Formats: sequence, structure tokens, C-alpha cells
Amino acid sequence: MRIVVSGGAGFIGSHLVDRLLGEGHRVVVLDNFITGSRANLAQHDGNDRLCIVEHDISKPIYLAERIDRIYHLASPASPVDYQKLPIQTLKVGALGTHNMLGMAKAHAARILLASTSEVYGDPEVHPQVESYWGHVNPVGPRGCYDEAKRFAEALMVAYRNFHKVDIRIIRIFNTYGPRMRLNDGRVVPAFLSQVLRGEPLTIFGDGSQTRSFCYVSDLVAGMMANMEKGDQDPVNLGNPAELTIRQFAEEFRRLAGSDLPLVEKPLPQDDPRRRRPDITRARTLLGWEPKVGLAEGLAKTLEWARGRVA
Ligand code: NAD
Ligand code: UDP
Repeated sequence: MRIVVSGGAGFIGSHLVDRLLGEGHRVVVLDNFITGSRANLAQHDGNDRLCIVEHDISKPIYLAERIDRIYHLASPASPVDYQKLPIQTLKVGALGTHNMLGMAKAHAARILLASTSEVYGDPEVHPQVESYWGHVNPVGPRGCYDEAKRFAEALMVAYRNFHKVDIRIIRIFNTYGPRMRLNDGRVVPAFLSQVLRGEPLTIFGDGSQTRSFCYVSDLVAGMMANMEKGDQDPVNLGNPAELTIRQFAEEFRRLAGSDLPLVEKPLPQDDPRRRRPDITRARTLLGWEPKVGLAEGLAKTLEWARGRVA
């Protein structure tokens, strides 16, 4: 197939491109490198089945050759990134999604949106099920990202209803692995660089907030399964193993063989208190569940990060 990946030079996108090329597909990456980089795809230099187009998808783009699938991942994703880039984030969620849907309609291509657990905001339902509408502060620091993704989901559904575009929506929960930018501010890259530099691990607040961490290969497998075998309703993808951030820091330290201290920093406003996916739907619909546990996933990520920290 001929497959477009918006945001294909980012962390998750580049792992998806690895898998798609590995299966023999032709891939067109659309990326403006605002938070991604060409280096994430350097392993494919010289592969004529990969075409990288530097483009801001908030502006229209027309591709002449037939397209079969569109994976729409382009968006800043880390809280530090999207709070630095609030207008770009809102534009790519709205205008970028509109442009990708226009492309899907023109080519009769199936399109998958990489949405997020942030559509649930600071959730009052736990674990989060797809039928939960969420608890989002539109004017808080996370509003630019959460509302962009919520608008993007609504636009996907409008194109399905009005233009019969074949859509997929995945809600991704915290995902980690090699190729995260070590300074992107998310907790895994933050701990990686702190452990490798011998600095204290920073815990925001008292560390009682929870997250559930999914290794990137599991996420990509779920994303591809949903594209080919899923239906048109949203599906959660993530690892349901839930830890407090303090437990996660302790586990991280133990796996890294380090005894660095943990230091508390102020808790950012609107930081969700609890987050854990209910993945019953993904299990039933796709026969998917995560296979890589924290010990294995963090070992691979640490191995990759060693040598990359000055
Ligand atoms: P990332 O920042 O590494 O990748 C995003 C990519 O999109 C980058 O290559 C960036 O340059 C590109 N991009 C951003 N705006 C663009 C634009 N206007 N035009 C073209 N390209 C643009 O982030 P990631 O962690 O790989 O996230 C990928 C997707 O998955 C995002 O849509 C994100 O919202 C979603 N997601 C990720 C997680 C996670 O834990 N990693 C969780 C939930 C949702
Ligand atoms: N966090 C932390 N220390 C850090 C970075 C993040 O304790 O150095 C916390 C953050 O407050 C949040 C969790 O880790 O509760 C996950 O943060 P991340 O930025 O990775 O993503 P989020 O799930 O908040 O979107």
C-alpha cells in the first residue's frame, strides 16, 4: 500500500514508519520537524520506498499519486512542547486534521487519528473507558492540546457522517521508548537524562498522581491492528499497569541500578491525578494487548539513551 504518515519524523511516527517499511509498504512522511527530526528516520536513507516531505500540514498539500492509508500523528505531544507551541498545537489539531481528512476524502483513503488520553482531562471515571466524555479545562495550560484533539475527533466523525470517510480514532496513553527527545520534559526522558547525568530525579508534587506506561512497539502494533481490523469508534491503546509517579521513580532508579535521591518540584496546574486505560475494547476488537513490561521496556530505552547524554 501507499501510506502517508503525518508526524512520521517524531518519536512514535518513526517507529511506525520502521514497521510499515518492514512490511513492504511505500511511505510518505509529512513533517515540519517542529518537535521531530530527520535523524529519527536516518536508518532508511537510500530506501526508495520512503519519501520525506518537509511540510506544515496546517497548510494544504495535494499528493498526485494514489494514497491507501493515512496515519495522522502530527502534533506536539509533550506538555512542555505544547505549552511552548499552543497556537501551532491548536492549528495542527484543527487545520492539520482538516487537511488530512481532505486528503483521505480525495483519495478514498482510510485515515487514523492519533488522539490521546488527554481528551479525558483530569478524569473523574477510573480507569478510563471510551464512553467517558472527560473533564477538561479549556482555558487551563493543557487546554490547547486537549481541545485540539477533542476538536480533531469531532472533525473525524463529521467527515465520516457527511463524506463517508473511513475513519479510525485511537486514544494513546503515556507511551515511551527510544527516540523520545531527552529534553522534551516528559517524565521518562526527564528521568533518563537525570539518571545518566547523576542528578536527582524530579518528582512533581508529592508523586501520588498515577500514570500507566506503554512501550512503543506495543503501541505501534495496536495502532496498525486498529487501522486494519478496527471499527470507526474511538479505542484506548495503552498499558493498564498503573503506578504512582513516586513508585515509577523508585522502579526507574532500581532498574537503572542507581541510588540517586528523589526531589519534589511544584506540581503543574491541571496535572491529571489518575490515568489508566480500560483496554477491554482493544482486547475484544483487535485481540491486542501490551506484551512488554516496564523492566524490559525501560532496559531497552536506557540502553538507547546511554551515550546520548552529554
Ligand atoms: P513527537 O513530538 O515526537 O512527534 C510529533 C511529530 O509531529 C514531530 O515529528 C513533529 O515535528 C510533527 N509535527 C508537529 N506539528 C506538525 C505540523 N503542523 N506539520 C507537520 N508535522 C508536524 O510526539 P509523539 O510522542 O511521537 O506523538 C505522536 C502523536 O501521538 C501525537 O499526535 C500525540 O498527540 C500522540 N500521542 C502521544 C502520546 C505519547 O505518550 N507519546 C500520548 C498520547 C498521544
Ligand atoms: N513528572 C514528574 N517529573 C518530571 C516530569 C514529569 O514527576 O520530571 C510527572 C508529571 O507531573 C505527570 C507525570 O510525571 O504527573 C507524567 O508527565 P508527562 O509530562 O510525561 O506526561 P503527562 O502524562 O502529564 O501528559
